[in-house]
Amino acid sequence: MVEAIIIFFVFAFGACVGSFLNVVIYRVPMGQSIASPPSHCPVCGHPIRWYDNIPILSWLLLRARCRHCRTPISIQYPLIEAATGLMVVGLYAAYFLAKVRTLGLGPGDPVRPAALDLANALPMFVAHAGLLCALLASAAVDLRYYVVPLPVMWTAAALGAVAVLIQPHPFLPSVPATAAAVSAAAGLGLLAGLWAIHRGWLTPSFIDAPDREGPVTPPARKEQPSARRRRKGGKGRRRRGSVGVTAADGVNPRLEVLREVLFLAPAFVLAIGAWALVTKVPAVAAGWGGLFDTAAHPLLAPRLSGLGGVLFGFLIGGLWIWGTRILATLAFGREAMGMGDVHILAGVGAVTGWAVPSLAFFLAPVSGVLIVLYLFIRRRQRELPYGPWLAVGTVLAMLFYDSLVRYVGPGLKVLFG
Ligand SMILES: [Zn+2]
Repeated sequence: MVEAIIIFFVFAFGACVGSFLNVVIYRVPMGQSIASPPSHCPVCGHPIRWYDNIPILSWLLLRARCRHCRTPISIQYPLIEAATGLMVVGLYAAYFLAKVRTLGLGPGDPVRPAALDLANALPMFVAHAGLLCALLASAAVDLRYYVVPLPVMWTAAALGAVAVLIQPHPFLPSVPATAAAVSAAAGLGLLAGLWAIHRGWLTPSFIDAPDREGPVTPPARKEQPSARRRRKGGKGRRRRGSVGVTAADGVNPRLEVLREVLFLAPAFVLAIGAWALVTKVPAVAAGWGGLFDTAAHPLLAPRLSGLGGVLFGFLIGGLWIWGTRILATLAFGREAMGMGDVHILAGVGAVTGWAVPSLAFFLAPVSGVLIVLYLFIRRRQRELPYGPWLAVGTVLAMLFYDSLVRYVGPGLKVLFG
């Protein structure tokens, strides 16, 4: 009985988040604020009252029409709300009822007793549920507009960091102090790269490439100039679907992608420097390693280690896609993979640690079969966005983590352990 009440509230909460996701899916691709103006009918402009804004129920009670102008309301709204509610309930059931996750993958992570429940893992659950919501919104926007809404994934990544600071949890594979130092240095290096672009010392890649003639997607084209400028630097601009920029677009993709290598250079240099400091200089090694001693710092050590896991996951997740993009673009002379996908897997890594995005990267092509099926049914013979594949791959990796880790874990432990 108590379980049924919890499930009802988890579903209701998920449906409310789904209601918010509808706003995100509708407004973010157009560069509009998600906060103002408040919800209104896009046709007659009438504000939507709270009693007409109850997830799923209002759509049914209004019989799918605006109360004032009777314009039909898309079934997308209640569908997204129901899907979000079911998704969050599904995650709750998988984690706390079926207890699908018992394994960690860090060097000090033993098989864990499955004693987690919502009460002692609430921040972790909120972050993981938030990640699923962000992936749903990203996939929906990607399927419709062939862009990935970056702030959505950034929000999910921030949620992951906050969750681990509030309450370190065992679903994040622990990382050793050395990996935490390398990750922190690489993170600083990325900030340095962004600073260089901000100061104009480094030109963002692919900035002058015209959008390829592809399927014209009006909402994406109406994007406000400010939003467009904010996302320059290749951060999140994505060519339509899988058709990348080629030499025919008036830019040399190989040279362009080398700009991205330059952007990443400070991160690699600082990471190597940090690795040398904490492994080769005994005094630094002792001082830094001491901070991760749980006995000496019971409050700080798990949080520092958790934050290291978040950063390491963010970098590994992003690196899978960005590395593939750089190597494939250099090899084939046409832009490969979108920067939006880099942000998707980086966000996944920030919430779940490095193992899930690594598994998702290899599961994504499998999930692609499902997406092809969907597009076939919808008779949309367009190029495929990659974001939804990664989203499905991530969900598979989160749910079947234990079996996957048992299967590939020994090999990974050789690499990272
Ligand atoms: Zn109306």
